[in-house]
Amino acid sequence: MHLFLREPSWLTEMADGTLKQLNPFSGTEVWTVPGRGNRPLGIKLPDPAPLAPGEQTKACSFCSERYLETPPEKSRVVRHADGTWETRYRTPAEHLFDTVAEFRRVPNLFEILSFDYWHANYGYRLPERIAERKARYLASPAGRQHVLGVIDTKLRASGKSPAEVAAMSEDARIEAASGFFGGGHDVVLARRHFVDGATDNTQLASSGTLTPDEHAQFLNFTVEGAATLLSLNRYARYVAVFQNWLKPAGASFDHLHKQLVAIDERGVQHELAMTRLRANPNVFNEDAVNYAAYSNLIIAENEHAVAFAGFGHRYPTIEIYSKSEHSNPWDHTPDELRAMSDMIHAMHAATGVDVPCNEEWHYRPADVDLAMPWRVMLKWRISTLAGFEGATKIYLNTIGPYAIRDRVVPKLYALRDQHKIAQMDIASECACRPNSLKYNRPRH
Ligand SMILES: [Zn+2]
Repeated sequence: MHLFLREPSWLTEMADGTLKQLNPFSGTEVWTVPGRGNRPLGIKLPDPAPLAPGEQTKACSFCSERYLETPPEKSRVVRHADGTWETRYRTPAEHLFDTVAEFRRVPNLFEILSFDYWHANYGYRLPERIAERKARYLASPAGRQHVLGVIDTKLRASGKSPAEVAAMSEDARIEAASGFFGGGHDVVLARRHFVDGATDNTQLASSGTLTPDEHAQFLNFTVEGAATLLSLNRYARYVAVFQNWLKPAGASFDHLHKQLVAIDERGVQHELAMTRLRANPNVFNEDAVNYAAYSNLIIAENEHAVAFAGFGHRYPTIEIYSKSEHSNPWDHTPDELRAMSDMIHAMHAATGVDVPCNEEWHYRPADVDLAMPWRVMLKWRISTLAGFEGATKIYLNTIGPYAIRDRVVPKLYALRDQHKIAQMDIASECACRPNSLKYNRPRH
């Protein structure tokens, strides 16, 4: 028995101010070198160009006047004149423009794992209700036209010449569109490309420019989409949920969207985290939220969620944890979902629309028996220093966790004063009780 067993220190400050960080779950080692933290983030903004008339709603293929450029829609959220929200499913092609969708879930035109992947590797077939929907969509002339138009775009983008596409029979082209109905890679699109009243092309609408109510709809709709993808494919073990904001973060368009990808593995990150979780079921309290609290890294807290400046990440990262006892996002109560939404929204708003970032969700994979909290990482994709990493596997980060906290906290106070984010406790106002995550509490 080890009498003096203790965990490594996740944060170590050297005499010269260098902050060495170790990620408790991935083992990633990161150093922040002093004197670099107060520099600007190093983001190059494009020169503003005035918006052409009508460009607000048709700047890219995700825009609201271009519904026919995305594959057949699975669902949409509409807002009624009285302010109530409604989710509508399987809107036929001829009714796509009857309402304006605040959010839409559509198949990704270029899937990471296609329908063919599941079909060839697992014998996956379209579930009956999806096959019925495909038949119904294609039976309408507008629907058939829509599908043919989108598949032609896809075939040409995949390298087929217009002549080759034209030489294919209509049935062959329709066959190539199976993934539009039974695929496991969806995109959730927000309505706005630009903020209301924008006059130039830099005034983009991001997660942080939504109202807290709009963001809550965005989050709930995404959670429902992930649960649906998982329920439709019994070979899927996980649905990866992420948001790439701006091109340096991997986005194809500067139009707010999330992606949902069903995969047949848990992912390396989860396997590593689970080794630690098996050894210590309370590890997400002890090594994440408690540790952040003892280290004064908590940024904000509300009843069901907490955010802190993350440590041991290659890119500067804000971590947002759900305190819920429920491991799956779709098992959260409406209040718990709202608390997570408010926290994620506030972190985006404080990060700022100009910062390229990835929002990554982590939650319990379908075949895991251990309880774990739902957590969301917001990673700022600003430049890191290359070269050193390749030689050492130690990442140099220009902004350490304390600099993240000090950048975000004053912005949160200002945003809260302006009622642009929901009410929450900020920094020193937070209770920071140990073991605030309830995933590990025994059930009665
Ligand atoms: Zn757009």
